Amino acid sequence: MDILAIREQFPILQQKVYGKPLVYLDSAASSLKPLCVLQAEQRLSLEYYGNIHRAAHYMADRATAAFEAVRDQVARFIGAGLREEIVFTRGTTESINLAAFSFGEAFIAPGDEIIVSEMEHHSNIVPWQQMAGRRGARIVPWPFDDSGQLSLATLEELATPKTRLIAVCHVSNALGTLNPVREIAAFARAKGIRLLVDGAQAVQHLPVDVRDLGVDFYAFSAHKMYGPNGVGVLYGKRELLEEMPPWQGGGEMISEVRFSGTTFNEVPYKFEAGTPNITGVAGLGAAIGFLTAIGFDAITRHEQMLLSHASRELTGMGDITLYGAGNARSGLISLNLDGIHPYDAGMLLDRQGIAVRTGHHCADPVMDHYRIPGTIRLSFGVYNTPGEVDRFLEALTEVRKRLKG
Ligand code: PMP
Repeated sequence: MDILAIREQFPILQQKVYGKPLVYLDSAASSLKPLCVLQAEQRLSLEYYGNIHRAAHYMADRATAAFEAVRDQVARFIGAGLREEIVFTRGTTESINLAAFSFGEAFIAPGDEIIVSEMEHHSNIVPWQQMAGRRGARIVPWPFDDSGQLSLATLEELATPKTRLIAVCHVSNALGTLNPVREIAAFARAKGIRLLVDGAQAVQHLPVDVRDLGVDFYAFSAHKMYGPNGVGVLYGKRELLEEMPPWQGGGEMISEVRFSGTTFNEVPYKFEAGTPNITGVAGLGAAIGFLTAIGFDAITRHEQMLLSHASRELTGMGDITLYGAGNARSGLISLNLDGIHPYDAGMLLDRQGIAVRTGHHCADPVMDHYRIPGTIRLSFGVYNTPGEVDRFLEALTEVRKRLKG
């Protein structure tokens, strides 16, 4: 992997902050965008912009073709069998809200149960709680152990004949744990339970094949995979999407509207009310092109190298607690410097040009598990280098000096 060539695609990395070269270790919150993504968005706006699907003129036709071509590209990228199984949304949060609302309307009755892992981002907890409240269902938390792992044995104990769905992340944004999705899916399938996987922290790091994994729903955001913010995807098995009612009403999602009644468009359009983020979807297409050009073999190798370098050094430091240090992990490390609040550490790291995320990472139940207010999270992208990890480690030494005396 030619790291220098990759970094050239990200002019933003040349920034200095507080007079220090920027070290961006916050890609799990939002990755930076390469030139090819920005150019794809710009090209659509400059050359052939028009509202999609409806109009019959050259500009709108070209914009529609570009938009729909990205649907095919996304389907290939995640191994979906059918383009109709790809619904464009605003992001993972909207994808999960859509799934929870519509699945709930179609399939959830009073007394039913939804199993939600305790390592979820709030956006894979709250929509299920809201849906459960509306439908009279119950949320069953699936706890993880101190090493940050979910156990299938625990899942087996939690599942009952009333369980309708399991919601779990592919990779945890707070711990970095890579969950055994294929095994979870096999278990769910055998019991007739549906499975939604939050892939927001996975699609940018590892090859994902939704059919091979055997999931029913898979959600992710473009802005964490080098694409634009404001665009996301919900993959859903066609037979499920067919049965689920639309969740927002408006243009595009209808077939015919009369005051006597409205009929709905087919999947996926019945879930895409209103004008979508047309330029953003073009950018998502470019982001997929960017990832596939580098290739997941190279991406995984590079990011695992960064992970093991950082973990090795941090483990040797003695006053560092690493969270979720189980075997299988991806993309990020969550830690605390003993006796120091993560916010204080974060502020001092920032002053040294290091961009990391500190806090609860929208995963309160994870923080509750360890009884901590938050963690310092460093997360990697394809553009990070071992030298940047070393700069983070040096900056941490400075934090220690300043706050521990
Ligand atoms: N799930 C996970 C695992 C995440 O990391 C995030 C973003 N932090 C989300 C969901 C929410 O994504 P978005 O804000 O793009 O909707």
